[in-house]
Amino acid sequence: MSSSVENVVIVGSGCAGLTAAIYTARASLSPLVLEGIQPGGQLTTTSEVENYPGFPEGIDGFMLMDNLRKQASRFGARFVSGLVQTADFSTQPRVLKLADGEIHTHALIIATGASPRLAGVPGEKELYGGKGVSTCATCDGAFYRNMDVAIIGGGDSACEEALFLTRFASKVYLVHRRDTLRASKIMAERTTSHPKIQMVWNSVPVEVLGVREGSVSGLKVRNVKTAVESVLAVKGVFLAIGHQPNTGPFAGMLKTDANGYFLPEYGSQARTQVPGVFVAGDCADHLYRQAITAAGMGCQAAIEAERWLAEHGS
Ligand code: NAP
Repeated sequence: MSSSVENVVIVGSGCAGLTAAIYTARASLSPLVLEGIQPGGQLTTTSEVENYPGFPEGIDGFMLMDNLRKQASRFGARFVSGLVQTADFSTQPRVLKLADGEIHTHALIIATGASPRLAGVPGEKELYGGKGVSTCATCDGAFYRNMDVAIIGGGDSACEEALFLTRFASKVYLVHRRDTLRASKIMAERTTSHPKIQMVWNSVPVEVLGVREGSVSGLKVRNVKTAVESVLAVKGVFLAIGHQPNTGPFAGMLKTDANGYFLPEYGSQARTQVPGVFVAGDCADHLYRQAITAAGMGCQAAIEAERWLAEHGS
């Protein structure tokens, strides 16, 4: 890592991070973007994005993120891969500590996003990643051609992924802990009326079966109203039960809510309690969590960082 001091470092390369990169790059700040484990963020695991303004026919999630990255590069944003382990905000410039060194920066925009939540049932961790349990239907759905699969959750993600899985799977069980979907009306209607999707209402996962065989052989579920347990004979189990914010490396340094989401200062969605440190996107938003709201927050953080640098010098 360079020993020079950056004007602005952006941690994260999802919609929020890349929009912040476009704005700070256009302001001639030559931002350094730290791409995490998933360059491009959550949208790179989605199929068609139908609600990002400006694309009447929708756009592939990966392509959208690639476009944002190219747009930021065009104005001088620089990209490196690396994971922040912790930070030191007691000094100015601020210090980010990575496995292979430190980065010093005057302004910092944290746009680390959120990660899929796991259900915490036996068998889930053992069979995660290539053995039948997945948090990304877009990535892994094609492996389940003509097989039965289950998806857990009742939000837009669960519905979107269930519909995507119908392209490959012979049957998709949608396991939801209540008897009404949380998803938007249009997604709920598309899902419940799809001939390949079978709703498993009022049910929670109890165990993913197949640990001994090394691949999923079924999903045991319990009906929360009757306490009756049954097994769905599926080869794939997909989780779509929400996310947790990736705020761990900054724990104790910035205010968070009870669920770990950053809490910006009153009067600004981007400013934190530490001068020159700003937050944007899903790591600071448990309410909207849309690509467009993350992009908007990235823009706000960039403008705040730009103003802060102009006032405090770099
Ligand atoms: P979400 O809206 O928080 O839904 C999570 C679902 O998982 C809920 O139905 C919840 O049940 C269930 N759940 C949570 N913990 C569980 C557990 N331990 N066991 C079993 N079920 C559990 O999350 P999301 O679907 O990922 O959506 C996040 C945000 O992104 C939302 O604002 C959504 O609208 C948006 N989104 C939009 C699109 C789109 O517009 N194309 C696509 C995807 C996501 P309860 O309902 O009972 O709480």
